[in-house]
Order: sequence, then structure tokens, then C-alpha cells
Amino acid sequence: MTVISNGNYYVPRTKEDAEKGFWIASAASGAIMSTLPLFSKPFLKQMKAEHANNQQYKDAFIKSFKTSGLPEEGVNIIHQEFSPDDLAKLGTAREKEIFHKDVKAGLNAFYAPDAKEIHFNLNKASISAFHEAGHALNNLKSTWGNLLQKFRGPGYAIAGLMGTVALFSRPKPKENDNGLRDFVQNNCGKIAFAAMLPTVAEEALASHKGIKLAREGGLGEAAIKNLKKFYGKALMSYAGYAIATGLSVGLANKIMQHYTRPKEVSPQQEFPQGYYPYQRF
Ligand SMILES: [Zn+2]
Repeated sequence: MTVISNGNYYVPRTKEDAEKGFWIASAASGAIMSTLPLFSKPFLKQMKAEHANNQQYKDAFIKSFKTSGLPEEGVNIIHQEFSPDDLAKLGTAREKEIFHKDVKAGLNAFYAPDAKEIHFNLNKASISAFHEAGHALNNLKSTWGNLLQKFRGPGYAIAGLMGTVALFSRPKPKENDNGLRDFVQNNCGKIAFAAMLPTVAEEALASHKGIKLAREGGLGEAAIKNLKKFYGKALMSYAGYAIATGLSVGLANKIMQHYTRPKEVSPQQEFPQGYYPYQRF
């Protein structure tokens, strides 16, 4: 038992306290992360609606792609759609076997940096192609964009690691904290959030470049305005992911601190009848 200067004690936590903290912290993080689909809902809703406007985006994209400098870099467009074999699987238990189902359905798109390929459904989801070409430009023709892209993977890994760090016990009182390890543990929520920022920044940059491409491809101002709105919603889903990650790790950290840090008690609390162990008569 440690007596501190104000006469109070530190009482270590029990194993049961730590277990309780672990379960509450895990449940609280899970609850925050379960809100994530809410952030991507507006994006998905507009994505479906834009299938009907595909032609104007498709024309502008093909035009802008030719002068983007990307073909010279070896970038290719890969049209993704359901094959007859895929269509037979749709709506059955085998649906999950369909490779790149979302992309084929025109609900998603991606740029594959290793293969230098932009994958999307040309007949449905051309609105997302400008942004994917923006990723290709970041990858191949931008120092900053390329650097941010390189930080994405490690950033996700660090954020995941912080989620684990948050769930470790804190056996000593806060005032005894020192050094890097304690700093990382005490700030794991903020670090997890910061680790996600390169991803958010690279997404924003890809959209910025995508909008520029759309203008160069001759897309009208009304459609440009719509494109900006759509890309804003996409960015919101990434920003939401970063915020939810930071909050969930931070909350787990607070809960674990509460349940595992030694508890400060006053002699009056521990010995309410007035028999203080250090009293001298
Ligand atoms: Zn993106």
C-alpha cells in the first residue's frame, strides 16, 4: 500500500476490475465503430442515383483521361461488370463468391497502383472514375500524393495497434507516468486519429485532381457542382472513419484507466470507524 503526500492511499485494482474494464471498453469501442455505415450512407445513396446520369460523366472522363498524362504512364481503364456466371450467382447463397461485386454493380471503384489500373463500371459508375484517376495521378505524378499514399498502410496498422494498446492495464497511478511508453498509452486515441489523416488527405487530394480532370473533359458546371457534392460525401465517410477510430480508441483508453489505475482512497473512506493504521497514540 502506497501512502501519498495528502495522507491518502493507493489501493491496487483487482483482476475482476481489470476484466470488467476490458469488457466495458471493448463494448464501448464496438458501439462507436458500429455507427460507421451511417457515414457512408449518403455516398452510397447518391452513387445509386448517379447511374442514371452516367453518360455525361463517361464522355467527359474518356476525353479527360486521354489528355491526363496517365496513358503515357501506362495506366489502363478496366471495365468491370457482371459476367453471365456472376449473374447466375446473384441473389443466391453463392453471391459472395462474386469477385469485386460492389465494383461490378457500379457501387464502388478503385485504382490498383501495382497494376496501374482504374477499375469501375463504365456504364454505371463513371462519376467515380475522375477520383480514381486522381489516385493514379497522386501515385505517378505527385510527390506529396505519393508520400501520403505510402503512409496509408502504416497509418491503418498504427491505428489498429493503438486499439490494442488502449486495452492494456495501467498498473501505476497517473502521476508516476513517464517516458514514451506511457505517453503513447495515454494518448492512444489521438495517435490513432492522427494515423488515419494521411488517408483522409490523400482522398481529398484525389478528389481535387478528379474535379480538375472533369473540367478538362468538358463536364458542365451543373454536373461539376454535383460531382463536388458526391466527392464531399465520399470524403465524409473517410473522415467519419478517422473520427470514429480516434473516439473509440480514446474511450477504451479512458475506461481502462478508470478500471485499472490504482484507486486513491482516504483513510476515512477505508476505515470509516476511525481506526487508521498509521495513527500513533
Ligand atoms: Zn479514393
